[in-house]
Amino acid sequence: MVRTMSFATHRREFGRGERVVPGIWRLRLPLPWPGVPHCNAYAVAAGDGVVLFDCGLHEPGSLAQLERAMEQVGLHLRDVRLLVCTHAHSDHYGQAASVVDASGCELWMHPADAHMRGSLEDPEARLARRFEIARQSGVPAKPLRTWLASARARDSEIARLVEPDRALVTGVVVPTDLGPWTVVETPGHAPSHVCLHQPERRLLVSGDHLLGRVSLYFDYGWTPDPVGEFLSSLDAVAALDARLCLSGHGRSFTDVRAHVEANRALVAERLERVRAGVAEHGPITAYDIVPLIYGEELTQLTAGWRLPKTLCYLHHLAATGAVVSIEDGETERWALA
Ligand SMILES: [Zn+2]
Ligand SMILES: [Zn+2]
Repeated sequence: MVRTMSFATHRREFGRGERVVPGIWRLRLPLPWPGVPHCNAYAVAAGDGVVLFDCGLHEPGSLAQLERAMEQVGLHLRDVRLLVCTHAHSDHYGQAASVVDASGCELWMHPADAHMRGSLEDPEARLARRFEIARQSGVPAKPLRTWLASARARDSEIARLVEPDRALVTGVVVPTDLGPWTVVETPGHAPSHVCLHQPERRLLVSGDHLLGRVSLYFDYGWTPDPVGEFLSSLDAVAALDARLCLSGHGRSFTDVRAHVEANRALVAERLERVRAGVAEHGPITAYDIVPLIYGEELTQLTAGWRLPKTLCYLHHLAATGAVVSIEDGETERWALA
């Protein structure tokens, strides 16, 4: 999940730890994001310590929240033998450097992490690129300037770049006391996204690919068709036949197939709204399509994720031959093919 606004005044929760099944603990960590109050890390027993799946975002006091959640289930940061990140978003990778520093563990993560590196290594270039995308998408000059200023003021929520010790790709196995977990590459939500599957126990660490409460997000601009990738990744996960899903936000859930179906249905509904909007109002900008999908205008709060998602839907419809992009001066508009 990705949110682009932080509110210092947001009422904070505390980190909490709880056992999910013997040998697996959910570490619920507070987030400073409106509407997304927490994210999950999971500790899985491994020899004399644990493997940690994801680690929460970095901000003042965040490492203490992770320590607090671990202490509630009798664990400590020094027990972490390996950190495995499902993807390179700040709420899953943000504290990786802190965890590695405290425990001396290795970090394993998928190598398609340019979407994270860009904003750390050259934040001004990344902002300029976002500004240009928003401008081409028809965002008017005045809100564009406001959004850019607020994006510039925002912290990355990542402690620092820490290089993965191992590329988390198909074929890699994460050993734990509950058996080996295999890597299932699941791009779409983010190019670096993977799920971890324990086949004998039919367990799935799903990151943000499958959430208890269906909520879609796609990183725009790194691959040609994130929505298409996400749908293929849903097929890959459905074929696993997992029975317990440990997701990146919210409670774990058992009806994995129903969640896959709900995601497919929501993607189909969104795509149809976009297609119908283009059919009725095209040629139309992505900015003007947003209210047709979500029922309200883009705001400073929603621009960071609704605009990229809308662009991803448009690019998927273009990839499937339903719509075409039309350059209109410096603005991009969309029409039925
Ligand atoms: Zn995410
Ligand atoms: Zn997330």
